Amino acid sequence: MTDTVQTAAKTDGPLNSGPLAAELRTAVEQELPRTLADLCALVRIPSVSWAAFDRDQVAASAEAVAALVREIGIFDSVSVTQAGIPGTDDLGQPAVLATRAARNGRPTVLLYAHHDVQPPGLDEQWESPPFEPTVRGDRLYGRGAADDKAGVMAHIASLRALVAATDGDPEVGLALFIEGEEEFGSRSFATFLTENRDALRADAIVVADSNNWDITTPAITIGLRGNVTFRLTVRTLAHASHSGMFGGAVPDAMMATVLLLGTLYADDGSVAVAGLTSHDAPTPDYDETALREETGLLDGVSAIGHGSILSRIWSQPALTITGIDAPSVANASNTLSPAVSVQISVRIAPGQSAQEAAAAIEDHLRRHAPFGAQVEIDDLDTGEPFLVDTSGWAVAETRLAMAEAWETEPVDIGVGGSIPFIADLVHEFPDAQILVTGVEDPDSRAHSPNESLHLGVFKRAVLSEAFLLGRLNARTGH
Ligand SMILES: [Zn+2]
Repeated sequence: MTDTVQTAAKTDGPLNSGPLAAELRTAVEQELPRTLADLCALVRIPSVSWAAFDRDQVAASAEAVAALVREIGIFDSVSVTQAGIPGTDDLGQPAVLATRAARNGRPTVLLYAHHDVQPPGLDEQWESPPFEPTVRGDRLYGRGAADDKAGVMAHIASLRALVAATDGDPEVGLALFIEGEEEFGSRSFATFLTENRDALRADAIVVADSNNWDITTPAITIGLRGNVTFRLTVRTLAHASHSGMFGGAVPDAMMATVLLLGTLYADDGSVAVAGLTSHDAPTPDYDETALREETGLLDGVSAIGHGSILSRIWSQPALTITGIDAPSVANASNTLSPAVSVQISVRIAPGQSAQEAAAAIEDHLRRHAPFGAQVEIDDLDTGEPFLVDTSGWAVAETRLAMAEAWETEPVDIGVGGSIPFIADLVHEFPDAQILVTGVEDPDSRAHSPNESLHLGVFKRAVLSEAFLLGRLNARTGH
């Protein structure tokens, strides 16, 4: 109890305390052991959503989450729900959906996380078993301990704090959506959104599935790159010929492909496709030494691109050739290849539509095909980038809540990868403000062996969200 008094007093400091801050902080701190115990119980359920894994475990995980949500005791409805996967007769993995209507003109917030996890990979690469949550130092290890069962528990723990601070009667409108197949492509996500549109409608959406800047600095993810992937096939000959017979007089497909791929890059290694745009935004400092270390860049090999290093990763396009179908070295004969296929993966900048980017890339390849080589593009797949309008009130409230919980200002970050389902959210709810927060830090190693959650980061993430809910619970005008 002494602890409680001290921590409650701490919120009267110079930081801009939000509504119910002292009560929320006390509730979060008192409940932390139970929150961690509940997180460990969720981690013990191997809820891998990939096709080859046991669907019963994902169902068990959904039921366990639903039980925690029901226990909070404030929702008008709590259900475990599935939606169809378009183009199949199959249902997606079960999600948990709960709603509570807003009162007195308060806004409604949708809290998103996912309860499914990536496969564990090889057991021998884990220092402790993947589904046996284990604390070492200040981290909790286990598959899903961070991504994203900690996100699930951040929502539940902050809701519990809100209930405690409002005597069980919050006014903010609440929707909770805990997905069950984020790690397997969110295949029923769009259908789920359409079918549950009214239940999910909100003024602000908290997606607790991203990163923090480091273990002492929170972050709001304001940009995500999109992607365009496809197979490129280059053809120059109707059949193979001996290179000693005709080499030097006709182009082989490999030569044409190499020349064509070369046109995709500028001299500094950046992407040279007209029509691919970059996003102009300031980035935090990140020096080349860190880049060299984290990527294992070899001595004497330089970095590529221009602009700040993080802008190259967050705000500019990147193009990677990820596979080539061509004769292998072991089978290399003195032959002119008639056709070569290449898999290409392009990360596109926030602010550009994936369709527009795909058209620009296709146009480039057709215009630059050397010697009139035939170019075919198929298996095209696109994911939209994402850019937050940071002028919204919900972003402002989130910054204040984070600053208060972490006692330092949050950093705006981009992410070089994609969270494709965010495009579905934006599509379905164009007016909602999307807040991408997270429980991870740079050492969390989501998707890898020895995934872990930093316990201090977790506590601060819960506190941030509790403060945000407290602010929304007092807010009018949205
Ligand atoms: Zn995740």
